[in-house]
Amino acid sequence: CRKFYFSVQFIVIVRVRGKGHMIIKSAPCIPDSDPTLLFVNSGMNQFKDVFLGKGSRPYRRVANSQKCIRVSGKHNDLDDVGRDTYHHTFFEMLGNWSFNDYYKSEAIVWAWELLTEVWRLPKERLYATVYEEDEEAEGLWKELTDINPSHIKRFGKKDNFWEMGETGPCGPCSEIHIDLTKEGRGGNLVNMGSPEVIEIWNLVFIQYNRNEAGQLELLPQKHVDTGMGFERVTAVLQGRVSNYDSDIFQPLFAEITDLTGKRYSDLKKTIVQREETDVAFRVVADHIRTLSFAIADGAMPSNEGRGYVLRRILRRAIRFAHLLRAETANEGAYLFRLVQTLANQMRDVYPELYESIDIIQKTIKVEEESFLQTLERGLMLFGELADVAKRTENGVISGKEAFKLYDTFGFPIDLTMLLAREKQLSVDEGEFDVCMEEQRNRARMDRKKKHVLSRKEGNGVGSFMGGRLIQEPTVFC
Ligand code: ATP
Ligand code: MG
Ligand code: MG
Ligand code: MG
Repeated sequence: CRKFYFSVQFIVIVRVRGKGHMIIKSAPCIPDSDPTLLFVNSGMNQFKDVFLGKGSRPYRRVANSQKCIRVSGKHNDLDDVGRDTYHHTFFEMLGNWSFNDYYKSEAIVWAWELLTEVWRLPKERLYATVYEEDEEAEGLWKELTDINPSHIKRFGKKDNFWEMGETGPCGPCSEIHIDLTKEGRGGNLVNMGSPEVIEIWNLVFIQYNRNEAGQLELLPQKHVDTGMGFERVTAVLQGRVSNYDSDIFQPLFAEITDLTGKRYSDLKKTIVQREETDVAFRVVADHIRTLSFAIADGAMPSNEGRGYVLRRILRRAIRFAHLLRAETANEGAYLFRLVQTLANQMRDVYPELYESIDIIQKTIKVEEESFLQTLERGLMLFGELADVAKRTENGVISGKEAFKLYDTFGFPIDLTMLLAREKQLSVDEGEFDVCMEEQRNRARMDRKKKHVLSRKEGNGVGSFMGGRLIQEPTVFC
């Protein structure tokens, strides 16, 4: 696995060096000075200042493999992760950039060269999309490559105008997709979200900045920004359709099997059982990567902002990890054990994981142990509520009881709703909202009282007397 890992990265490095690029390290996946982003979502983030004309670098051509996390803002793939086989919350993006140097022609020709001459991917399975107004890019594909002209497709803003966030550098793009269907007749599925016809590389022609008012401003110079999914291209080069069947996920899957006794894609199971287990494997393996890299780069689960997003991911991972162990005799936290496997696998490429292994494991273990207790008690109480609801005419769980489960036992309301749906029940959301509002009012009153008390007492000591510790709602996804 490690050998393969290096060979893909090595080939990319040799090729981009050959075109005069400087190879640099990945930036941390937690942005250090960009308030518009919670997590680094693409390779270009660290060059935003260069694109905007506010900063410079000692090179005009550069390439790297960037750690990316897509769980918030404009690029949020969390809901797809586990359910499909090619979106991850954490992935590596291979990229090459030109700062006011080469432009569309070179980016297109070199991308085609790497894919078809170096990696020898079958040309008849490759498709290029261009922005509907970008006739120049369409012309260059036809003129400078031997792509089948009927494989060049135009799409609108949603697919072919790339933006990093609500504001920031952006521009029309040209994406390369590969048809992985058995017969190779999936061309009409390009950009349809098909797991068998997937986007592997995006060439973005940065020309604009989206300003705070939402308008496009022309940048002083033009740049190239490309991004290729490492996990996707690895799967393709290994002849797999699913990223999870590539070498990259095998060490984690093997460890999950050791810890749970379950197998990925177990043919002895029924399709329904297999799908349930496979989704859980994918979620657990994916999320442990996100959590480990984010914590290694300085983030921590908490009740607000970035930390809150991480906590939600962690809880989602814990729930699926719990599901994998549901019918076994094993008990207790185990998610944190996967960190060692991942750190070993990534050691030569991202040593920071190995160096922070203690803190990553401890953080995950503490959260896991505490949430598992909440989960087990909550699941038991939910079972009782569900039994009562089943006996009612409409199969509705009382909003008051769901609120009690949330407020007193810390059981996330999203989870109650999800479990209810799984049992063809529903939750009285109106009643839940009323209870929530009442609780907020109580909290407001308490805060006022607290304020008065602390002013009377002259300092904060004892000011919680009669107050309650109010936490952010514990949302589960
Ligand atoms: P998709 O349409 O499949 O969601 P995208 O258009 O959002 O991809 P880009 O923003 O263009 O992706 O990112 C550049 C490349 O990064 C993509 O071509 C793809 O190979 C890879 N990529 C994007 N999102 C993910 C993800 N969630 N997991 C793994 N790889 C990804
Ligand atoms: Mg996407
Ligand atoms: Mg896309
Ligand atoms: Mg894209």
